[in-house]
Amino acid sequence: MYSANGPVRSMKDWLEYGIGFLEAHQIQDARTDAWILMEYTANINKSYYYMNMHEPMDAGDAEDYALLIHRRAEHIPVQYLTGEAWFYGRSFRVNESVLIPRQDTEVLVEEALKRIQPGMRVLDLCTGSGCILLTVLKEAQVTGVGSDISQEALLVAELNRKRIGVQANWIQSDLFENIGGRFDMILSNPPYIQSAVIDTLDPEVREHEPHIALDGSEDGLLFYRRIVEEAPSYLNPGGWVCMEIGYDQGQDLKGLFAENGQYTNFELIRDLSGLDRVVCAQLKGE
Ligand code: GLN
Repeated sequence: MYSANGPVRSMKDWLEYGIGFLEAHQIQDARTDAWILMEYTANINKSYYYMNMHEPMDAGDAEDYALLIHRRAEHIPVQYLTGEAWFYGRSFRVNESVLIPRQDTEVLVEEALKRIQPGMRVLDLCTGSGCILLTVLKEAQVTGVGSDISQEALLVAELNRKRIGVQANWIQSDLFENIGGRFDMILSNPPYIQSAVIDTLDPEVREHEPHIALDGSEDGLLFYRRIVEEAPSYLNPGGWVCMEIGYDQGQDLKGLFAENGQYTNFELIRDLSGLDRVVCAQLKGE
């Protein structure tokens, strides 16, 4: 079969073309990503594909698909191309103003849920896409505020709030700067990568994810220092701080909470790979 522009290719031909093109450009999950872009541009699922893979792909869809394959080959993360990322079993909108939600961060949500009681008031600092707060609000009977220094990030968080279908308030703020009142739990996945390490990360992260969401200053600990120091003024007695950390920051965080003197019940929690990933500590009671 031929069209004016050359051979008409089947969906299978296009999928294989995409996989080959991404592999040739050293894209790690070439097969998965080519499939995600096929599913997105042709608006199909796997069963439709397997029943129709030898049929010609719609010309407009094929053009969109080829364009996105080429953009993915330039190391743009697939989630920014489709505008969608999955977190805790739900779909979130993302763009280059927010960090792409990571599976590791689900450990923070789980630890928060273990400590949450109905009626608590939760604050999520550096909320980005809002994935942490919105998941907690969906899973538990609590109220919540999310803050971020980036107004663009809060626009994404608000899109996600509507998508997930919960109530939440957003405050543009550099950590606690514009936050008022007290909370029962403060959550955060703050920027925690050492500035000098950012240049060594995958091009997907280094060139496309927002550096303000990644850069934790020279030693990576700037945001943790500020949060550990200021959180007691925003927590009710017995309130929790739970934060995601880098795999090698557990002892530093233990030190920060201990030095402060106002916390108890420090815990270090590992992710599915067995690496330190989350810290929780409780403000001492009255
Ligand atoms: N809270 C968001 C997340 O975990 C964004 C974190 C960030 O920007 N550092 O994905």
